[in-house]
Amino acid sequence: MTAFAVTPRDVYRAQQTLAGRVQRTPLVPAFGLSRELGADISLKLECFQDTMAFKQRGATNAVANLPADKRQRGVVAVSTGNHGRGVAYAAKRLGIRAVIVMSRLVPENKIRAIRDLGAEVQIHGDSQDEAFERQAELEAQEGLTPVLPFDHPDVIAGQGTIALEMLADRPDLDTLLVPLSGGGLIAGMAIAAKAIAPDIKVVGISMDHGAAMAASLRAGKPVAVTEGPSLADSLGGGIGLDNAHTFAMTRELVDDVVLVSEAEIAAAMRLIYREERVVAEGACTVGIAALMTGRVAAEGAIGVPITGRNIDPELFRRVLAEEPVETLLGAS
Ligand SMILES: *Cc1c(COP(=O)(O)O)cnc(C)c1O
Repeated sequence: MTAFAVTPRDVYRAQQTLAGRVQRTPLVPAFGLSRELGADISLKLECFQDTMAFKQRGATNAVANLPADKRQRGVVAVSTGNHGRGVAYAAKRLGIRAVIVMSRLVPENKIRAIRDLGAEVQIHGDSQDEAFERQAELEAQEGLTPVLPFDHPDVIAGQGTIALEMLADRPDLDTLLVPLSGGGLIAGMAIAAKAIAPDIKVVGISMDHGAAMAASLRAGKPVAVTEGPSLADSLGGGIGLDNAHTFAMTRELVDDVVLVSEAEIAAAMRLIYREERVVAEGACTVGIAALMTGRVAAEGAIGVPITGRNIDPELFRRVLAEEPVETLLGAS
C-alpha cells in the first residue's frame, strides 16, 4: 500500500490532542432503523458536537498543531457552513484569532452563527472565488494560516478519530457508511478503521449531482463538476484540482462509492427522524438512503456517522411535510 501523509499513528495522536476539546459522541443502536431496513445499524451522533457537526475535530487538530508563531498570528478559513463553524470555535477555545471570509451573497443568519462562535467575519466579493482571493491576501499581509476543510493531514487525522471511537464502542462493525464530499472524513476514518479491522468495508456516499469525488475517481484524476442546489448542501464543493491527499487516499482505501438522489435523501431524513427522533442534515442521511434503496446491502453490523444537524428548521419542517424535492430546492 502507498505511504500516505496520514498514518494510523497520526489518528491516535489526534485523539490525544482532541481529548477534552471535542465531544466524545455516543454510538447508539438504531433499533427502529434496523427493524425497518432489516439490518444491524448503529449511529455515531457527531451531530452533537458543540458546533452541530464533526468538522470541529479536524479544525481543532489543525489549529492545535500550529507552531507558536503561527498561533500568535491566527487562522483564516473560507466557509459559510460547518467548516467555518468548526474553525471559529476551535480557534476561540484555543485563544487564537480566527477570520472567516464569506462572499456578499451569504445570508445574515449564517454570518451571525459564525460571529456567535467567536470569529471575525469578513465579507468580500460576490463569489466563493473572491473569498479565496481575500484569504490569500490575509495570508500574505497578516500572516494568517489558512485552515483547509479537508485536504490537510491534520484535518484528515482529526476526522479519523471518529472511526477509532466507533470501533472502540463496537469492535464488531463490518461496514462504515460515510458521507463523502472532499474526502477528509472518509480518508481519516478509512486509514484508522483498516488499521484496526483490515476486513472492514468503508463505503462513501454522495448525492447524485455535483459529486466531485465520485467524478474524479471515474476520471482517474481530480476534476471539477457542475453543482446544483442539494438537500446535502454540506457535501457541495469540489475536491481541488491540485488535491494532495484525499483523492489518493479515497481511491486506495475506500471499497465503494455510491450515489443517491435528492428524493432519497429527503426520504432518509424522514425515516431517521421518525424512527430515531434524530434531526440530521441531508449531508449525513445519504448512508441510510443508500440502505433504503438497496444500493448498499443490509448485511452485518453497519456503523453510520450522523455528521451534522445544521439544517434550517423551516426546511426540515418542509421535508417532514413531504413537499416534493423540486419545490424544496427551488426558490425557497
Ligand atoms: C463536510 C461534511 C461532510 C463531508 O466531509 P468531507 O471531509 O468533505 O468528505 C459530511 N457531512 C457534513 C455534515 C459535513 O459538514
